[in-house]
Amino acid sequence: MPTKSKSSKAKKPSSKSVKYVYSFGNGKADGNGKMKALLGGKGANLAEMTRIRLPVPPGFTISTEVCTYFYDHNRTYPPALEKQIDEAIRKLESSMGKKFGDATNPLLVAVRSGARDSMPGMMDTILNLGLNDRTVRALAERSRNERFAYDCYRRFLQMYGDVVMGVQKRPGEDHEPFEVVIEELKKELFPNDPHVSDTKLDAPALRTLTDRFRKLIRERTGKDFPEDPREQLRGAVGAVFGSWNNERAIIYRRKYNIPHEWGTAVNVQAMVFGNTGNDSGSGVSFTRDPATGEKVLYGEFLLNAQGEDVVAGVRTPEPVLQLKVEMPEVYRQLQDVRHTLESHFHDMQDFEFTVEQGRLFMLQTRNGKRTGFAAVRIAVEMVKEKLIKPDDAVRRIPADSLSQLLAPVFDSNARKTTQVIARGLPAGPGAASGKIYFSANEAETAAQRGEKVLLVRIETSPEDIRGMLAAEGILTARGGVSSHAALVARQMGKVCVCGASELQIDYSTNSLHVRGQNFRKGDYLSIDGTTGEIFPGEVKTSPSDIVRVLIDKDLTPAESPIYRVFAQLMQWADQRRKLEVRANADQPDQVGHAVAFGAQGVGLCRTEHMFFEGDRIDHVREMILAENADERGKALAKLLPAQRSDFAGIFKALKGLPATIRFLDPPLHEFIPHDEASQRDLAEKLGISPDRVARRVKELHEFNPMLGHRGCRLGIVYPEISEMQARAVFEAAAEVQASGIKVRPEIMIPLVGFPRELELQIALVHQVAHQVQKERNVKLSYLVGTMIEIPRACVVADEIAKSAQFFSFGTNDLTQTTLGMSRDDAGSFLPRYQEEEIVRQNPFAVLDQGGVGKLMETAVKLGRSTRKDIKLGICGEHGGEPDSVKFCHRLGLAYVSCSPFRLPVARLAAAQAALKE
Ligand code: PEP
Ligand code: MG
Repeated sequence: MPTKSKSSKAKKPSSKSVKYVYSFGNGKADGNGKMKALLGGKGANLAEMTRIRLPVPPGFTISTEVCTYFYDHNRTYPPALEKQIDEAIRKLESSMGKKFGDATNPLLVAVRSGARDSMPGMMDTILNLGLNDRTVRALAERSRNERFAYDCYRRFLQMYGDVVMGVQKRPGEDHEPFEVVIEELKKELFPNDPHVSDTKLDAPALRTLTDRFRKLIRERTGKDFPEDPREQLRGAVGAVFGSWNNERAIIYRRKYNIPHEWGTAVNVQAMVFGNTGNDSGSGVSFTRDPATGEKVLYGEFLLNAQGEDVVAGVRTPEPVLQLKVEMPEVYRQLQDVRHTLESHFHDMQDFEFTVEQGRLFMLQTRNGKRTGFAAVRIAVEMVKEKLIKPDDAVRRIPADSLSQLLAPVFDSNARKTTQVIARGLPAGPGAASGKIYFSANEAETAAQRGEKVLLVRIETSPEDIRGMLAAEGILTARGGVSSHAALVARQMGKVCVCGASELQIDYSTNSLHVRGQNFRKGDYLSIDGTTGEIFPGEVKTSPSDIVRVLIDKDLTPAESPIYRVFAQLMQWADQRRKLEVRANADQPDQVGHAVAFGAQGVGLCRTEHMFFEGDRIDHVREMILAENADERGKALAKLLPAQRSDFAGIFKALKGLPATIRFLDPPLHEFIPHDEASQRDLAEKLGISPDRVARRVKELHEFNPMLGHRGCRLGIVYPEISEMQARAVFEAAAEVQASGIKVRPEIMIPLVGFPRELELQIALVHQVAHQVQKERNVKLSYLVGTMIEIPRACVVADEIAKSAQFFSFGTNDLTQTTLGMSRDDAGSFLPRYQEEEIVRQNPFAVLDQGGVGKLMETAVKLGRSTRKDIKLGICGEHGGEPDSVKFCHRLGLAYVSCSPFRLPVARLAAAQAALKE
């Protein structure tokens, strides 16, 4: 090994010969759109847009390798970097005809981060770099616009002071220090109107502001703001690399599983100015509507503003369509750009642009984030427009996002009786109702208490990400559809209404005032992220279109465009997937829903879920309290008809599809009352003494019930329970079969670890089957198999497969027992485990492929070594989680089983896995 690593070291080019800096401009670029790993998403696409001759201001990208080097080498740079940057600057200077730091014609640049995957608003940007006390005068003279020059300068000081020099809010301060300075100046200049817009500050006022900003920087940092543009650039580049590891970037990466090792690139680009006057401005647009997917130019534009104003949500911009009136020529160019982008990138694009004195410049493009609704509609329509193939459509829609399409909307009747109190921009579709909280922290804590929460903010910033994650929905008073709140909400699939400017939010009193009404922290509000409406109180929700068409059947496909695109996508997915999908369902109506969502059978019917209906629980309790087999038999005889009719209902709903029915699994104490009053009630009902109930409850107490008398251990100790369940299954099967419906029961024994456990239970099942077939004079076909949910079962799977006709992985218990982590208690420490990156994701939600997955692999291999065609499936919660579904595909399982509402997600994930082969 050492020799190998030596030789690979020898081959590695020295840092001198590595290319770290990639220039672009005037139709030529060193890089291209495929180089996202090296140039970051932004850098690669700037190169690509340059190549396809879109109007991109020239510049260069410092590669992500420099970021990696920076962190590997104690925050220093590769020696060859400086020379390459110098070279790139020379190129840039000559292409712009301007010089860095020049007193008559200075080059100004923007410095932006750009990771491989976009991380909206997560890292820092610095504009107008190159300005100082000298160059600002040159800019004023050349532009003949002193106000503009000082506006640029004060923005630069503000961004540089904040991002590079760390002049930020201190603990206990409510406002950003630079904002405080602006507010103070406004108060001095406009004592009667202290809330005047920034645009009212004239050149001398802005010059005063730059002096005060420099003073603020000196006071807060003990250092002077650097006048030398080279030093400014060094600082800015360092800050961008440094921002890769700020807290919000780390949280974001954790949520979206972006590896920390990737690093960010830095883009340095010649400035174009959107703030030179009313023939300039900045905008963010999408080539299609990112909320609905409609094929229209969608976005917003701020006149006389720099790009950051739009994204930061400080001023509410106007719709980009307004440009049709205000700047028809720019509008026409934008439509062309939209077309060019989509036909080149074959996907919906989210792009930033600046108009400088009527001239359009492209600053960025990337595949746009979108809602689940938009993802499906865009993909399906792009296939129709021949921009992509059905395979691409299936591949590109994040499987998880389909759950949004099934999410509830407000009940239309409930809504009619509720007055809209205000409107904002619809930024993340769906209906949400919850108690309002005005800070991310409080929202997070309330959600931890189990409350449904709406996070209400004047505007959100990346710091609010934890509160946003915890909230059902997000409501802001400022900011447009591409503001931070909107982007992040859409990506998280959260309901969001933003820019509801009528809301007067007062953080100091934790209250919100709107049209004469007051709402305080903890009051209910409801928001509709599809229409932008805001309602007082808790508004009832109603099912989505998909649910209405498939389940409620009060809407037809013809009436629902979103249903139609959904159905088309599902058809493509079903044509491609190899895994079957089944549902975890215990009631006949649930099974019906599952079939409507595409289930090809029931993968797990938890029979104990049937024990709580009507007076069944009394019979169950009687059975548990029984002191001998005779008494138990009597109680079980009362349960038999109820179980039989449930199973019959399930078989009918399945119309010939298979049903995996699991025998009783949970520890018995879960069914009996623990408080004295309910024990007395029960004693009375059963005609026994309360003491006897209390004694039995005590006897059943276990220190560790999850590892106690449960699963097949119940059927082994009390075989009459399994007998009753088997009888109920077979009698129901005989009955339904007689009515002409095919029946395919698959009886599943839980928590098996020893082959003999299964053998005993199987013998019993066969015996009952034999009896029922004889009694009813029918022939039934059925399977008997086992859950694989404890590690021992995985390692002796070859033995178990001698009697099991199928395995179904119970990954909930398998995760619990493999990790030795209680599935009910892990919540107290798992978040910390994720923060420390001990586990990347919650292993009870996303399968732990490295541990639990290895055991599954072993079980599959051993199981097949005994029984080549053994039927294999999964029925733990992981069966509806996309990454886990893909893993099951790779293992070669026959099916995954999940809750009915996750079925579309599983179908799509299974198709994606098949396409990956
Ligand atoms: C499992 O353990 O994965 C399983 C499906 O069973 P339950 O969740 O009922 O224990
Ligand atoms: Mg289990």
